[in-house]
Amino acid sequence: MTPVLALRSVSKHYPGGVKALDCVSLQVRPGELLAIVGPSGSGKSTLLHLVGTLDLPSSGTVEIDGLDVSSLPDRKLSALRGSRLGFVFQQFHLSDGLTAVENVATGLLYAGVRRRDRHALAVSALERVGLGHRVDHRPQQLSGGERQRVAIARAVVNNPSLVLADEPTGALDTANGLAVLELLRELNRQGTTIALITHDRDIAASLPRRVELRDGRIVADTGGPAERTVVTGSVL
Ligand code: ADP
Repeated sequence: MTPVLALRSVSKHYPGGVKALDCVSLQVRPGELLAIVGPSGSGKSTLLHLVGTLDLPSSGTVEIDGLDVSSLPDRKLSALRGSRLGFVFQQFHLSDGLTAVENVATGLLYAGVRRRDRHALAVSALERVGLGHRVDHRPQQLSGGERQRVAIARAVVNNPSLVLADEPTGALDTANGLAVLELLRELNRQGTTIALITHDRDIAASLPRRVELRDGRIVADTGGPAERTVVTGSVL
């Protein structure tokens, strides 16, 4: 099965000799829920930018659904981003002037969905995250936890191949943070592939797979293909 994400020997160098990522290889299969964890400066944001197709590697390849992002012209890259990736941010990034359903519908703007279908899809995405009763509320009329649910609905409305969640509980209190994590787990049980980027080791420890970054390198991966092979081999 084609991985939803494949990084092959990816390096990213910044001017001044900084190696933000140093020969990173990683594959994510459909249906996974993984944490990408590491301390500040370990390369998480850089990785997120590359996987989110917002930046290109200095060397190596990034593939989404088997498509090498560096081989695509800008127009195709935007289309890929709009249709195959969903983004959730720490600070929600909702538009204050739009209602919840309008915010979610913006997730479909670049996916070629007809205007009249956008509203219905956005309502059903809000229902999936438990906010069917808040569709006409604006962000300032919602709690932090509810705002993040709207952002999650926007990320999944288009059934993306991969959801990238960047510190999604970072701006929430403990109870709301746990509820958001549980929602992500539930969406994953329903089939959504999710990569959660965090510096929080407890959050990472609660997820099925952890990929640990340090100084731009993967220093541990609890669920990579190699580890699975070893497990299978020992059983046989
Ligand atoms: P994290 O998100 O884990 O904190 P980053 O990916 O932001 O890590 O940073 C990894 C390394 O790359 C750090 O040493 C950081 O200082 C450096 N870095 C990040 N962005 C830039 C940039 N635009 N120019 C130069 N160095 C950068």
